[in-house]
Amino acid sequence: MRCLVTSARPYDRVYLEAANAARHDLVFVETVLDADTASVARGFPAVCPFVDDLLDAQTLEILAQGGTRLLVLRSTGFNHVDIPVAGKCGIAVMRVRDYSPHAVAEFALGLMLTLNRHLHKAYARVREGNFLLDGLLGFDMHGKTVGILGTGKIGTALAHCLHGMGCQLLGYDIQPNPECQQLGMEYGPLEAVLARSQILSLHLPLTPETYHLLNAERLGQMPQGSILVNTSRGGIVDTRALIAALKSRHLGAVGLDVYEEEAELYFHNLCDDIICDDTFARLLTFPNVVVTGHQAFFTREALTAIAATTIQNLDDFEAGRDSINRVAGRA
Ligand code: NAD
Repeated sequence: MRCLVTSARPYDRVYLEAANAARHDLVFVETVLDADTASVARGFPAVCPFVDDLLDAQTLEILAQGGTRLLVLRSTGFNHVDIPVAGKCGIAVMRVRDYSPHAVAEFALGLMLTLNRHLHKAYARVREGNFLLDGLLGFDMHGKTVGILGTGKIGTALAHCLHGMGCQLLGYDIQPNPECQQLGMEYGPLEAVLARSQILSLHLPLTPETYHLLNAERLGQMPQGSILVNTSRGGIVDTRALIAALKSRHLGAVGLDVYEEEAELYFHNLCDDIICDDTFARLLTFPNVVVTGHQAFFTREALTAIAATTIQNLDDFEAGRDSINRVAGRA
């Protein structure tokens, strides 16, 4: 099947070509899809987008007019695709339902440890010959209470890591997970989890229900000095409210691998450019905030699994087989 791989980075080519073994005709372009660029896919029955490609109604209509019948997403999340419109346009959507939950869970743990033990400051300090410990005081994770919002695949992998470190686990999910309960996780209503969590990690999908779930009121319900880590989707947190909670010193530290307006910034080298997003720029000024550019998934194991599933999705669609990875349309 002819498939256009958009937003393609060199590592996408390496892993997808290895998984493909010349079965499908893959064409790689760096172009980020949106309504202005969608014509690049004209004549391709399949398109393979990443999370920074915007598959809104207008883009999907242009893709459908150009003959596209399948989107094979290189991601778990599909909030960047207008799924009802894809269905109406006759475009099937398949995703990578799971790859390595450990990649994201371990990264979230890394952010917690970085913020708690000030590793980001220590790295710079030692390189400048400053070996003072003042300002680097942290706390033992052992015995601390960590709240996990969303205890699906990634939240559960994180629960295992934290359980191994002796943390007390709180959980919030519409569907409590027995695997987490076996680790001693106590499920409760959102307000109760927020109020008791010394560290809070977000692992919910971005949906209309979870959009700005952490708003000013909910951030205010978190304990003074607590740590918030978001490796899920930026839109779950109201960034302006987050900045207010940092300015008032209510939150102790924040780790963000995702940002609600990240599409303009992430996955590009802007080092010689001017960042015009003042909200993002303000976030970068806090000494107790660590921002990374949506890299939590980025391990060899995850890229191998993403590529294998993406090629399998092309195989399944071509053969007319149904698939657990189907999000919309015929598989
Ligand atoms: P999952 O589907 O296994 O788990 C999500 C959990 O959220 C489920 O248990 C579900 O019941 C719960 N949930 C959904 N809506 C809810 C609501 N309104 N209220 C309470 N609970 C709700 O997903 P996952 O594989 O664990 O991934 C979670 C998210 O992580 C993805 O949706 C994606 O946005 C994000 N992600 C980020 C990266 C990254 O690189 N930063 C990589 C992969 C995934």
